[in-house]
Amino acid sequence: MNKVAHYLQEHVVGEVMTSSDARKYFSTDNSIFNLTPSVIVYPKNENDVRKTARFVWQLAERGRLIPITARGSGTDLTGAALGSGILLVFPAHLNHVQFFDQKEGVVTVEAGVNFGKLQQLLLTYDRFLPPAPASLEYSTVGGAVANNSSSMRSLKYGDMRTYIKSLRVVLANGEVIETGRLNKKELNRKLGLATFEGEIYRSVDTLLEENRELIGKSILNVTRNVAGYDIADIKQPNGSFDLTPLFAGSQSTLGLTTEITLDTEPIAEEPVLITAYLDNIKDVESVVVELKGLEDSPSAVELVDGNLLSLVSSINGNYLKDVIAPPYPKFIILIEFNGGKLKKLIKHTTKLLTKYTDRIVIEDDEEKQQTIWKLRESSALLSGHNQGMLNPLPLIDDAIVPVNKLGSLLSAIYAQFSKEHLQVAIWGHAGDGNLHLQPYLNLGQVGDRQKAFRMLDEYSRTIRELGGSTTAQYNDGRLRGPYVDKIYPDDVYKLFQKIKKIFDPYNTLNPGVKINVSLDEVKPLVRNEYSLDHIYDHLPLS
Ligand SMILES: Cc1cc2nc3c(=O)[nH]c(=O)nc-3n(C[C@H](O)[C@H](O)[C@H](O)COP(=O)(O)OP(=O)(O)OC[C@H]3O[C@@H](n4cnc5c(N)ncnc54)[C@H](O)[C@@H]3O)c2cc1C
Repeated sequence: MNKVAHYLQEHVVGEVMTSSDARKYFSTDNSIFNLTPSVIVYPKNENDVRKTARFVWQLAERGRLIPITARGSGTDLTGAALGSGILLVFPAHLNHVQFFDQKEGVVTVEAGVNFGKLQQLLLTYDRFLPPAPASLEYSTVGGAVANNSSSMRSLKYGDMRTYIKSLRVVLANGEVIETGRLNKKELNRKLGLATFEGEIYRSVDTLLEENRELIGKSILNVTRNVAGYDIADIKQPNGSFDLTPLFAGSQSTLGLTTEITLDTEPIAEEPVLITAYLDNIKDVESVVVELKGLEDSPSAVELVDGNLLSLVSSINGNYLKDVIAPPYPKFIILIEFNGGKLKKLIKHTTKLLTKYTDRIVIEDDEEKQQTIWKLRESSALLSGHNQGMLNPLPLIDDAIVPVNKLGSLLSAIYAQFSKEHLQVAIWGHAGDGNLHLQPYLNLGQVGDRQKAFRMLDEYSRTIRELGGSTTAQYNDGRLRGPYVDKIYPDDVYKLFQKIKKIFDPYNTLNPGVKINVSLDEVKPLVRNEYSLDHIYDHLPLS
């Protein structure tokens, strides 16, 4: 055991591990990258997190830099749950629901709580947390906060940021702070603190005040965006101030979250699902744009293309048997309403859809809706299914564009894949202009590795030209970190760098992720093989 591990073992209550097995296990997440940590710590309580951060800070003051990375369940698709130094694995012990206020619907949890378990608990009280990632059974609430996760129903309900009331965060130097919206008086009190917390409040406030006009330029013209840092929601026009939006989505590059207090929603009315089959890209875009004009937002507007359905049928011939028979349409749009003036909404939606198609199904029976949703859920079959040595890779994925550019995005994707002689299947949150796809490549082949980065480059350029963001849900990490400076103006990117410096002056908090990331440093980290095995293997210690 190395000296760092030895010191930590003597000072924290939780376990410290350096065995090659454990380090290998934590050397992958769900991304295409591989990075082996030197020490793994399972914090037993917040004090363990604090002590570890404090120790790393003290070493940094003496010139020895050891990265520190928080880890939930490691389902991250961008390499952000990996680190070469100390990995703090939260779900092992910090996995308790602390408090649930039934009347207010407010819940407080430790960061390592499994998202699926929390959702189950809330459902028993007829409530839910809408931005649940599709990976909720395997992932933690802390991970969802750090990635600012969202779901298909975020179209109506918003992302994780919308639901966070406050966070307890361990700062780079080991101080613990509690975030939440502060009025002017409370902010002044923070500004006067002679601690690192006070320094952070002063520096962030000054930065925002000196760059008021620039802040607006950090808001891209899309409905959801997790690229860079959310600097626009910290200070409101009334002077109120909250660091929460900054931590949410920061991928442990600004602090380590130990506790989260969240709002929840009551279960909605019985939903209605409208399915429409469409034959061309232009109609998909027109339908989505017109849906935006409805009086009440649908709770979801999802898309699958015919290629996905063909691919799913080739993987499992029975999966779609009770839902749809070939020949498959080019596109299917699934529109769900779960509130508002339902009758009127259905009438308006049907009227607008009939301009584009006569193949429309309206379903109010929830059991039958579940069957129809299999069309969309079928995309999950792809992730775990290889074609020989070819794996579906989380590589060029998760872009979001203004909805009136959805058609251009679809066309660009088909053209790019055709040029590379690769098959493509597309699904996603059409209502937000956010699409998902996973090219089949063999990372063991040099040619495919080169192709991967060539495609990533071209895809990111397309997104920039369409005025979108390279990431709506899955965040930047190591994968898209090198592109953050390309989708924002230079002076906005410089603000992000200053934010990072304020919170993490020694660059020990998850370095190489999100900000100040170069392609040269991430390319050597690409794995030779790709699998999702660790998701299924992962068993928290308690
Ligand atoms: C099949 C599949 C489907 C997915 N579907 C969705 C989806 O629908 N929507 C979506 O948004 N995402 C989705 N994801 C991405 C990912 O699962 C989510 O972002 C998830 O919330 C991550 O949680 P985790 O516990 O696995 O975090 P990890 O992967 O362990 O970590 C994710 C990030 O959070 C940081 N982090 C973790 N814990 C803390 C903490 N306590 N303090 C500070 N930082 C911390 C890590 O350092 C890392 O940067 C999907 C992934 C897969 C594999």
